[in-house]
Amino acid sequence: MQKTCSLKLEDAYQSPRRIPVELSKQPYEIIIGKGALHRIGEELLKAGIKKGVKILVVTNNDVAVLYSDIFLNSLIASGYDPNLLIIQAGEEQKTPESIALIHDAAYSAQLERGSLMIALGGGVVGDMTAFAAATWLRGISVVQVPTTLLAMVDAAIGGKSGVNHQGGKNLIGAFHQPKLVLIDPSTLKSLPEREFRAGMAEVIKYGVIGDPILFDLLEKHSQLHNLMVLGDELLGEILSHSCSAKARIVALDEKEGGIRAILNYGHTFGHVVENLCGYGTWLHGEAVSIGMIAIGELAVQLGCWSENDANRQKRLLVKTGLPTAWPEINPEEVCIALQGDKKVKDRKICFIVPKKIGSVEIRDDINLIAVKNCLFKIIQAN
Ligand code: NAD
Repeated sequence: MQKTCSLKLEDAYQSPRRIPVELSKQPYEIIIGKGALHRIGEELLKAGIKKGVKILVVTNNDVAVLYSDIFLNSLIASGYDPNLLIIQAGEEQKTPESIALIHDAAYSAQLERGSLMIALGGGVVGDMTAFAAATWLRGISVVQVPTTLLAMVDAAIGGKSGVNHQGGKNLIGAFHQPKLVLIDPSTLKSLPEREFRAGMAEVIKYGVIGDPILFDLLEKHSQLHNLMVLGDELLGEILSHSCSAKARIVALDEKEGGIRAILNYGHTFGHVVENLCGYGTWLHGEAVSIGMIAIGELAVQLGCWSENDANRQKRLLVKTGLPTAWPEINPEEVCIALQGDKKVKDRKICFIVPKKIGSVEIRDDINLIAVKNCLFKIIQAN
């Protein structure tokens, strides 16, 4: 049953920002515009998706209650034939069983090769929908309409799709690039503040790995933890810088054969924190924040990064309201977990090490004894 939209979205869709993702085979656009949810139908037409095409919109219960009406109305007004599937919210739903639900809905809606799936929601909905689209009829098109900050700046862009396996997160998946990414920043107004802050960790990550202008911009603003005081202009700039950074890296290395690994800055330790503390204790972005502090400290100890830059990073994370203290996990256990990471190649652990704000390098020569000593030092300083 449809419910009414409880948020009044401003129809301020005048000059959306358009960021190209320049892939050689299937280039696409990221469109960022306040009120974009009202314009999904028009944007699909502009992207060449013909009227009458069958569409399966996948969302979750949190997002459906807020936005599904306006979304479906825009699709219908543009001559499309949408069906809606609502999945329960939560990372625990990111399973092969949910993919089966999406495939069942695709079957009931009689989706064909030329049909489309749209993911309306956070990274969980986005990853599942893209994977279901990648595998339905050997691959149909998908459009991403992210509604969390993390999904806007990261998960919706770049084509990684998948679900979790009991053996680990995202073990089942495929690369499947979207046809379009449509971002309506107004949807962030309903996002819980903790989720917003967690997304900011990925924004700060872009600053450190390659965009010193973004980093400076963030440093200048005093209240980064609170979306309501950020203002539309700054939020637009933050989204635009972050999406451009991701688009640039994905265009250079679509399937993570090389440079794309730098997007994992803070994630090597972050994944261990998520894993050893128990999934659900920390949000992904919070674990990444702790991971950025850890790799920053390691870089200082290795002599590759200045203490001044490490302190700048820490101040920014603290100002955003993100956790920075190392949790109570033993460095010995951390080293064991690091060796079990799915990104370990030929028993070498890959670390993304900062050199200065705006520049990192990929290293697989860091000794685990140095890692352990660094973690003991961080724990002592906690
Ligand atoms: P999420 O999708 O679970 O969303 C977080 C919470 O916010 C959920 O409860 C959701 O229902 C709610 N929500 C979403 N939009 C809302 C809105 N506008 N208003 C109110 N509530 C809203 O979490 P996430 O942080 O968006 O994504 C995390 C997932 O993304 C993980 O599964 C992770 O593996 C994946 N991810 C994928 C990639 C990729 O490249 N594919 C990159 C990073 C993360």
